[in-house]
Amino acid sequence: MPVGTHAAVRAQRREDLLESGVQVLLANTYHLLLRPGREIFEQFGGIHGFMNWPRSVLTDSGGFQIFSLPGSRTMSEEGATFRSYVDNQMVELSPELSIAAQKSIGADIMMVLDQCVPSTVEHSVAKAAMELTHRWAQRCLAARGDSAQALFGIVQGASYADLRVESARVITDMPFDGFAIGGLAVGETAAEREDCTAVVTDCLPADRPRYLMGVGTTRDLLEAVHRGVDMFDCILPTALAKQGVAFTSLGRRDLRRAAYRGMDAPIDPACACYTCKTYSIAYLWHLQRVHETQGWQLLGLHNIHFYQELMRRMRAHIIGGTWLDFYREQRDLLDARDSYGPAVTHVTKAQRRKLALRRGRYEVVTQGGVGHIRDTHSGETMHPVDDPQREARSLYVGPARVVERLKTDETAPLVIWDVGLGAAANAMATILAAETLAGERAAADGGALRPLSLLSFENDLDSLQLALSHVHWFPYLRHAAPNRLLAAHRWVSCCGGIEWRLLPGDFNTVKFSAPPPDIIYFDPFSFKTDGPMWSLAAFRELAELCATSATELFTYTYSTSVRAALLAAGFHVAKGPATGPKSETTIALSPRAAAAAHGHELLGEEWLVKWRRSDARVPFGADPEDLSWQEAVSGHPQFRGQF
Ligand SMILES: [Zn+2]
Repeated sequence: MPVGTHAAVRAQRREDLLESGVQVLLANTYHLLLRPGREIFEQFGGIHGFMNWPRSVLTDSGGFQIFSLPGSRTMSEEGATFRSYVDNQMVELSPELSIAAQKSIGADIMMVLDQCVPSTVEHSVAKAAMELTHRWAQRCLAARGDSAQALFGIVQGASYADLRVESARVITDMPFDGFAIGGLAVGETAAEREDCTAVVTDCLPADRPRYLMGVGTTRDLLEAVHRGVDMFDCILPTALAKQGVAFTSLGRRDLRRAAYRGMDAPIDPACACYTCKTYSIAYLWHLQRVHETQGWQLLGLHNIHFYQELMRRMRAHIIGGTWLDFYREQRDLLDARDSYGPAVTHVTKAQRRKLALRRGRYEVVTQGGVGHIRDTHSGETMHPVDDPQREARSLYVGPARVVERLKTDETAPLVIWDVGLGAAANAMATILAAETLAGERAAADGGALRPLSLLSFENDLDSLQLALSHVHWFPYLRHAAPNRLLAAHRWVSCCGGIEWRLLPGDFNTVKFSAPPPDIIYFDPFSFKTDGPMWSLAAFRELAELCATSATELFTYTYSTSVRAALLAAGFHVAKGPATGPKSETTIALSPRAAAAAHGHELLGEEWLVKWRRSDARVPFGADPEDLSWQEAVSGHPQFRGQF
């Protein structure tokens, strides 16, 4: 039950509460008694009409606030007298007056007036308060009369097991509709609360709702459900939202941490709430930072949704007979804090597992036993649709005819640029193909292969390092080469025919110092993540570097703007092979490569017609008004003679 102290859940609209599946709201009798007062509820026919809430409402008795809020009060057998914080008048609250107020408010579930004491008081004080609570419970039942509104009894007894058992026995002897465990979550440790809860739930009838008042965190809920509790109320989902804290399937996330700045992902990837469907963490982080009210409204919406979803999942696992597995799995997970970013002080087992799957901005995700590297900033996954090795072969190594080219008698090395080393899928597919070929050659006639010079460009080695610490998911990395490459930036095969070099840094800078390539695997993140790699200016520089060599470039995209950029830069452009859901990819040829027999299918007139109509006709970073690149595309030699 979300807490709607003043007949409203902090900053939440009723539509969102209904949407998240909230069944019951909790409202506070004490506050509503003072403002707006009983007569307003009587005028509107109760709280449902007043706040237009179609589902159930539970009201507390007002006792907890009277005993816990500061201010003057006097207690007697009759009831309590306290001074109103609104108008300083003396107000009386007795079992009869509490029930009358709750009847006026129109709660579906009313609570008896009880006497709350701190859970740490002496046994005699706790016993006296408990006995008074029992007498007041009788008076509440009498005051309820024949009202159709449900009434719950409350078990008290501080943290004394004998008192809790006695209280449960006395209260369950009375004809209540449900039973609450009161006086907890007021200063005891979590372990004491859990023990106490178990003692009480053992004594409660199985056919009535059991309600643990004022609890708690998601982990507290899990532990209490494990001990047989059905209902909870807590202000944490909205109160912590105001502080920037979210409860998620990855544990708690604290948006005050700078680590979340710029993170382009939902706050909970497993959540279907409006906030998670609509906004990134980066945006919520920003709202929190500028103290924008919407920030905690959106976070509160998510937290309430997460709590409701957690309760639904717990119910499904109990009914499905899988409770214990779920309970064990969630214990660590729900309590994990800020698994993203630095400065984690308390690390749980589940969290350690998650942390090991992350390095810098990258994380390992697995699909059917195959590992992929995902960029947590953009959400982009490298080789997302297939086994990375299979894709490397079908998209780069195969179409580039690496094996055929290594079989020739040429003595100059075959130079391959591997742009975007990532987790070395393309580089290792190349090395493994070359080694296989060398092995076959050695077995047959011993003739040497054409030397291979593989140059990998990468500005962030975290992805390869991360994959190397999980080789069971990246089996192609079980090889001396990648470790050697990281350590020395160069690996040479034992027979000397294959050299692999690492050129660290920004490709657009480093490319000028590399020998001209025969083949380019162009496999950086997409232009959404890494725009400068795909700009017209960068492709023009690349075309110039390849002007005197027969270079073939292979890339996974078939976007119209990328193809237009390649054409405008002076490359010929052909269709590349299909991969996964993509019906085709792209191959670019330098003029000398285009003049040779290459066997690729160049784009024809129909592509040009499509390009003219396309919304994506402008290359990344090009001026849409500039005629020079447009003329370079439409007047490109590869389309000449086709009209
Ligand atoms: Zn959410």
